[in-house]
Amino acid sequence: MSNTEERLLQWLRDAHAMEKQAEQMLSGLAGRIKSYPQLKQKIESHERLTRDQAQRIKGCIERLGGDTSVLKDAAAKFLAMGQGFSGLFVGDEVIKGSLASYTFEQMEIASYEILIAAAEEFGDPKTAKVCEEILAEEEEMAEWLLENIGPLTREYLNREEKDLAEAKR
Ligand code: MG
Ligand code: FE
Repeated sequence: MSNTEERLLQWLRDAHAMEKQAEQMLSGLAGRIKSYPQLKQKIESHERLTRDQAQRIKGCIERLGGDTSVLKDAAAKFLAMGQGFSGLFVGDEVIKGSLASYTFEQMEIASYEILIAAAEEFGDPKTAKVCEEILAEEEEMAEWLLENIGPLTREYLNREEKDLAEAKR
């Protein structure tokens, strides 16, 4: 196996673990949001998409003949990180949750750019295409979060003026 192929497989495994972490973060966040139905719905739909992305990445690894038995361990490591992270969201949880989600999307965008370049370099147009499709989904989510964080902040502050407990999530 060439160095480039090994790298491509390693980065695909990293991406799979990243999506598993994303799934965990998104489902935790969606489950706690109460007063912001539009945000909750968007997070839930991206969670479903995220689950599918993990499957598509796994498919790429399998098609390349890579070992998928190690995926579980790597994902478990990321999951623990994700759980620790969600403990940060106290008080202004809905704002911090949106901020963290946006940050995560940016990491995903860069990761798929890396994978597209690696897949092209190795000569695997199928993997490149899968990663381009996922990249577009991450860009759409990042854009949505960025467009909505201003209005969300105003809504949050208005609610907080009236009822602190209801505002925070
Ligand atoms: Mg994703
Ligand atoms: Fe995403």
